[in-house]
Order: sequence, then C-alpha cells, then structure tokens
Amino acid sequence: MTHHLVVLGAGYAGLIAAKGAARRLRRSGGVRITLVNASDRFVERVRLHQLAAGRPLRDLP
Ligand SMILES: Cc1cc2nc3c(=O)[nH]c(=O)nc-3n(C[C@H](O)[C@H](O)[C@H](O)COP(=O)(O)OP(=O)(O)OC[C@H]3O[C@@H](n4cnc5c(N)ncnc54)[C@H](O)[C@@H]3O)c2cc1C
Repeated sequence: MTHHLVVLGAGYAGLIAAKGAARRLRRSGGVRITLVNASDRFVERVRLHQLAAGRPLRDLP
C-alpha cells in the first residue's frame, strides 16, 4: 500500500519536515511526499535584512 504524505507550507518547518521525511523514508518505498506552498521559492527570512541593505539573496527554488 502506498502512503501519501502531504506537507502544507514550505517555510522553515514544512521544508525541514518534508526533507527529513524523504531522507528517513527513502528506503522504505511505498511513500509519496508532496510539499505544497504558496510560492515556488523559499524565502530566507533570517536574511531579509541583507536584502533591505542592498545585498542580493540566493535564489532558493
Ligand atoms: C521579516 C522577518 C524576519 C525574520 N527574521 C528572523 C531571524 O532573523 N531569526 C529567526 O529565528 N526568526 C526570524 N523570523 C521568524 C521566522 O521567519 C519564523 O519563526 C519562521 O518562518 C516560522 O516558520 P514556519 O515554518 O512555522 O512558517 P513560515 O516560514 O511562515 O512558512 C509557512 C509557509 O506556508 C506557506 N503558506 C501559507 N499559507 C499557504 C496557503 N494557503 N497555501 C499554500 N502555502 C501557504 C507560506 O508560503 C510559507 O512558505 C523572521 C520573520 C520575519 C517575518
């Protein structure tokens, strides 16, 4: 039986949860993970002060 794990929100918590689950369940098979987010880019909020100061941020798809 295939389980489908859906993680809603790809902020800090959702991204870590989805990546952690993918790493832990990689070998178990039969698990599909879907990460749902409002945008296709991760916003590194802890670095937004750098953006405000004129330094470009990395693009994180
Ligand atoms: C400007 C700013 C600067 C910050 N700087 C720091 C810092 O320097 N250090 C620090 O420790 N903390 C900082 N924080 C706090 C930190 O960003 C939050 O504590 C953290 O982002 C919370 O993580 P989260 O995963 O719970 O939520 P979020 O990171 O907010 O993730 C929620 C995700 O859900 C998605 N989402 C929401 N609604 C929907 C929907 N209806 N459909 C699809 N997707 C949806 C959003 O797009 C987002 O990606 C800052 C916050 C802000 C706003």
